[in-house]
Amino acid sequence: MIDVGLFVVLFVALACGWLLGKRKPRETKKVTDKGIPKDYFRGLNHLLNDQHSEAIDAFVDSLHVNSETFEIHLTIGNLFRKKGEIQKAINVHQNLLSRPEISPKEMRLVQLELASDFMSAGLLDRAERLLLNIAGTNSEFQPMILTLLVDLYEFEQSWDKAIKIGTQLNLIQSNEKIAKRLAHYHCEIAQSMMDKEQYQEAYKYYTSALDVDEKCVRASIGAADILIEQGRFKEAIKELKQVAIQDKEFVPVILPQLKECYDKSWRMGGYLKFLIEQNKQSPSASLMMAIAQHYYHEDPQYAETFLVEQLRLHPTIKGFKELIKMQLDESQGKNSDHLHVIFELIEHLEQVKHKFLCRQCGFSGHQLHWQCPSCKNWGTVKPIHGLEGE
Ligand SMILES: [Zn+2]
Repeated sequence: MIDVGLFVVLFVALACGWLLGKRKPRETKKVTDKGIPKDYFRGLNHLLNDQHSEAIDAFVDSLHVNSETFEIHLTIGNLFRKKGEIQKAINVHQNLLSRPEISPKEMRLVQLELASDFMSAGLLDRAERLLLNIAGTNSEFQPMILTLLVDLYEFEQSWDKAIKIGTQLNLIQSNEKIAKRLAHYHCEIAQSMMDKEQYQEAYKYYTSALDVDEKCVRASIGAADILIEQGRFKEAIKELKQVAIQDKEFVPVILPQLKECYDKSWRMGGYLKFLIEQNKQSPSASLMMAIAQHYYHEDPQYAETFLVEQLRLHPTIKGFKELIKMQLDESQGKNSDHLHVIFELIEHLEQVKHKFLCRQCGFSGHQLHWQCPSCKNWGTVKPIHGLEGE
């Protein structure tokens, strides 16, 4: 891979060279006999000596700010930020802002970049002030300004502010991604209210989350938790069944809650019907195990036969473990030493394997995170499928 620093220097050197070739003699400052600023040669010298940062500084010095060089300065500042040299990015952008030559439109663009610099440097107060200052200008950059503010409030976990600005953004640039984020912000507030046992308020926030994004699995699961807490099992079942419509990949996650609801409302027949329907549409280890466990109480032999048939079609370690468990239960301790060893081995294997995977960046873990700890996307971490998962 090309070194980022070297790429930045080469880019800047080429850009400077090209612009200097176009520049009129009267625009140059300290020039050589051939009309090229000395700073340019200083930059080349640093480049040849592998002094990348010094080379960029010298190239930047060799360029005046004007309409032709504006984009180059902006790009240099952004490259500094991407390279992690935030103070240099801030210097380049602040230098641009101090120039009377740039237009109001260019000024807003630079302010946006400067706000990004402040955010990267962790100077959130300065970034917020700058963004709020330009947010009222109703410019063509309004979606970008609001997006940065939402990012900032999300980072600060200021969910109320993130909802306020995110709602404005959703009005001017409605898309699935911002709706998804807004729904999770509502869920975050709902969760904190659940922790304080303020179920009524929490339920309202989960409902609002579903109003913004009807596919929000987290809101349906959270609302069902509250309904279960209040003993409203039939309503909880209805809420949990929504998950199968919203995203089938999350069906294995809701099965323990759903079983509890059907059990407590004396409707286990309905539970089995749901399991069979879902297993036909989108088979998973959790579904086949839940069906087999249901059969096992009445006819262990039939349950085993069912599980073996299912494992042939959809082989999983979890399902195989369930089969060994059933055989162990049936053996009642007679001649089952080898089965115990196999069971323990599979159990150990299952414990070390991750259960959830981010569909966006590939992060995996043992727990379900609603926001991926790695790429920070919402709702992208889901149960792992295949032989080692569902
Ligand atoms: Zn991720």
